[in-house]
Amino acid sequence: MLVYKFGGMALKDADRMRALLPILKRQKNEKLVLLVSAMGKMTNAFERLHASYRSNDKSKDIQFQAIKKYHFDIIAKLFEEGHPVFDLVNTCFENVLSTLKKYHNEAYDFSYDQTVSYGELLSSLIVSEFLADQGIENCRLDASELLVTNEKYRDARINWNLTKEKIASKLLPEIDNSNLIITQGFIGGTHSGIRTTIGREGSDFSAAIFAHFLDAKELTVWKDVPGILNADPKKLPKARQLNHLSYHETVELAYYGASVIHPRTLQPLKAKRIPLYIRSFLNPEQVSLIDDNNQSDGDIASFIIKENQILFTIASRDFSFIDAEKLTGILKLFSVNHFHIRLIQNSALNFSLVADENPLQLDELLAQLQEDYSVKYNRNLSLLTVRHLQDSKVSDLFKDTEVLLEMHSRMTQQFVLSSETLASFMTELNDLV
Ligand code: ASP
Ligand code: MG
Repeated sequence: MLVYKFGGMALKDADRMRALLPILKRQKNEKLVLLVSAMGKMTNAFERLHASYRSNDKSKDIQFQAIKKYHFDIIAKLFEEGHPVFDLVNTCFENVLSTLKKYHNEAYDFSYDQTVSYGELLSSLIVSEFLADQGIENCRLDASELLVTNEKYRDARINWNLTKEKIASKLLPEIDNSNLIITQGFIGGTHSGIRTTIGREGSDFSAAIFAHFLDAKELTVWKDVPGILNADPKKLPKARQLNHLSYHETVELAYYGASVIHPRTLQPLKAKRIPLYIRSFLNPEQVSLIDDNNQSDGDIASFIIKENQILFTIASRDFSFIDAEKLTGILKLFSVNHFHIRLIQNSALNFSLVADENPLQLDELLAQLQEDYSVKYNRNLSLLTVRHLQDSKVSDLFKDTEVLLEMHSRMTQQFVLSSETLASFMTELNDLV
């Protein structure tokens, strides 16, 4: 049995959807479980729609119509008039509206999950109907009944035992009946069946969890990039493909911000030594393989640039040390306010932390931190992480430049600079790639 995941870009328009057919026909002899993300950039669109409803923004109806039109434009190209999919999609949109209205006074993260999950629900519905219409029979299952999570909405944690049970009792029997199962990434459900989501870009992780409990032969994540590269080719065009990586190295790269695969994805795979293929749906021969190996291209230097970073410098007001207990409290505040941390540096009196921007929560976080600490912060920063570069070429590059924070360990060099400054070094960095 194989597990596939199609990301949003593989589903972004009717042509891309049609291009899935040969991919699915490539393998006829294996049972397949297919997880889909929301189509194109629909998760962002649903996020904005949800926020607009919460704040009663006047653009909310226009946004709703735009999302609806996006989906209808695609199905109009894929199906004959009168196909039942039109009614099904329409009903979905009625449910989106009633969800927005019903929950807009409930907790933000809760109503977010009830709304944003429609991106995946719509895409799985459309993919399933489309494949059936093309003669590829399939069975569609709701991931909120399979992937059991806690109630930390928007960032729900997996309940591994219950998920294992649900997959065994609800998914496995369907696999006996159907060669192709379609379900959603990113979505889970609580014990009592309330929908949750597991964090942005979480569908790779979903796919890995399914692969784990299904003892899949392999997981293939289909992307619009040729596997894993040693840099983002949009920023550093000389980026090279990494053909073969270890789980370990891939987690490291993902942690520092390589956007190819979500860091949480590897652990369920590694536990069962399930190989992960990252394949380009534009050219399926381009592939990176990630598995349990030690000798891999992971030794090629990688350059990861993470933009929209914010640097916090936190100091105690009374010159007391920032000890383990205080650190725990500080980190907790970053977690509850949904700040993803990329780098931490501690000295006796200062604690510095680089995290992804989260403008919606910044004021809240600052207010909470400032109850006990003095806090400085810098915005519009970029974090450059370099792995496996043995010399000081990058440090030399920045020697006359203001680097706000720098950290070196055996395999990794990290530099925090203003985004503008880092952007001015792209030509030089490209030559190092
Ligand atoms: N659709 C979700 C997102 O864009 C999950 C995913 O694509 O992995 O964050
Ligand atoms: Mg997505």
